[in-house]
Amino acid sequence: MNKYDVIIIGAGPAGLSAAVYARRAGLDVLVIESEVYGGKLSKTYEIENYPGIRKIQGLELAQQLTDHAKDLGAELITGEVKEIVCSDDSKAVILKNGNEYEAPYVIVATGTKERMLDVPHAEEYTGRGISYCAVCDGFFYRNRKVAVIGGGNSALEESLYLASLAEKVTIIIRRDVFRAEAGLVGRIRNNDRIDVIVKHLPDSLRIEDGKITGLVIKDTESGELETIECDGIFPYIGADPCTEFLDSSLLDENGYIIVNEDMSTNIDGIYAAGDCTRKRLRQVVTACSDGAIAASSIAGRMK
Ligand code: NAP
Repeated sequence: MNKYDVIIIGAGPAGLSAAVYARRAGLDVLVIESEVYGGKLSKTYEIENYPGIRKIQGLELAQQLTDHAKDLGAELITGEVKEIVCSDDSKAVILKNGNEYEAPYVIVATGTKERMLDVPHAEEYTGRGISYCAVCDGFFYRNRKVAVIGGGNSALEESLYLASLAEKVTIIIRRDVFRAEAGLVGRIRNNDRIDVIVKHLPDSLRIEDGKITGLVIKDTESGELETIECDGIFPYIGADPCTEFLDSSLLDENGYIIVNEDMSTNIDGIYAAGDCTRKRLRQVVTACSDGAIAASSIAGRMK
């Protein structure tokens, strides 16, 4: 079995920051990522609230974080974790492909996974008109019409990006208030390529000749149906923590990992950081902070 001082599960901002801090403390570090290095950052168009950097493309910050961890000597691999098996002073991290890695300390930084649109045929049309990544697929909708569902930071940020390509962006929210930051809401209101429809929920897809040509939405008060003309649909309706492989004793009722101030959990040797933890503010900067604290806490115990 391959042995390390610390195994970090997840290579988003939290996991990569933990790797940077752990390597600088002289620890042997393995980072395991199931999708892309950089995590959700890689799917984010721009970051404008990482202090000291006024504006940076998500992909570029993801690349810089990854390179930073690698340059310091962290080992990064791709794989999906099946379970963590704890013994007295060691943790075995077992991947779905059967590989096993061992360390006295594990940091779980697996982030969250976006919620899927729940209307008939949504799964079938994912990648064929429904997309969860504006940065990846926005280009296909140049000079066309798109609908964005949701009123959180993700929906509004990606709507602004889509408005730079599409002819028209229609945002549909289920209440009459946004959940996103006020600054973003102001920019949405001032963008004449963006319309907002309040108090409506997605109901069904309008499909013609095998293509999405519209989204049927339902008034949350009257129940009346209306069709929005669109070629693409981008749901940004929140996310759930990627913690299903963990012991339920670590989690709160919504699946988020409960952490202490030093990012430790209620299982000795298991730490957690970033969006997968129970916390108030989910941002790149707070994810990086969590990762730094988790790694420093572990380094302090290894002295
Ligand atoms: P979010 O903040 O949970 O917002 C989800 C949005 O989708 C809300 O408007 C919600 O409506 C709506 N919604 C939920 N379920 C729905 C459904 N079934 N049908 C229609 N609408 C539905 O999610 P998020 O935007 O993905 O953000 C996740 C976390 O990451 C947040 O903490 C956010 O602040 C953070 N984040 C930060 C940044 C940034 O700071 N730059 C960028 C992206 C994300 P209600 O409001 O009515 O519940």
